[in-house]
Amino acid sequence: MAATCEESQPAICPVADCRALVTHTHLLRHMISEHLDTRARTLPFQLRLREVASGQQTLLMLTYRQLAVDHDQCLAVLNWSCDSPFDLMEPQLDLPPCHQALTFHLPVLVMVCRTTWKALLKQDDDKGVSRDLTSEWGTVYLLWLVSPFTRRAIYANLAVLNSRLQCIVRRNRRRIRNFASRMPISQFINGLDPFFVSLNEDQLDELCDGGGEKASVFLEVTIEGEGQ
Ligand SMILES: [Zn+2]
Repeated sequence: MAATCEESQPAICPVADCRALVTHTHLLRHMISEHLDTRARTLPFQLRLREVASGQQTLLMLTYRQLAVDHDQCLAVLNWSCDSPFDLMEPQLDLPPCHQALTFHLPVLVMVCRTTWKALLKQDDDKGVSRDLTSEWGTVYLLWLVSPFTRRAIYANLAVLNSRLQCIVRRNRRRIRNFASRMPISQFINGLDPFFVSLNEDQLDELCDGGGEKASVFLEVTIEGEGQ
């Protein structure tokens, strides 16, 4: 099945403040060359690059209160080795020699954003949401996964654990989003969105011994593969 034009067109890099136009076959190369550098501005959230198989868990530490507000952050690139890459997606091209083994892997970017309900609803202005209602709503964290275009849907489980590795937010099965597609914010607000997990800051603080600047959680990301 051929991709429709929109789904496989080059798109803006999903990382905040990076305006680079990236093709689907060069997303991993772009992440390695522009965002993996340890001297890059992503600190203290240094990007991790990892190869994963279906069902393999990755734990990512997140000092959540230190995230800049309204800043889409990539915590890790999980290079998923799928069973049949040739009919699922295009290969990743022009990788540096030390990363060429990842050519037929799907790069999955683990994204997080600290924002407010107010900012989220502002993106959805024409839906007529009352401003008085939104002003009292607090800080929220959004988690989602993006990858280059795939011909079939890919699913992953997201969970949040506290520093004692107790699961505090149950495993949520979510679809991996095409990085070139726009965020359907009205669906998200209505709870119908299959891509995002949202967490309230108050809820996180409560589950992490009262919060504070250094409070941290672990995100557990497990790529399950194609849906049934
Ligand atoms: Zn970028």
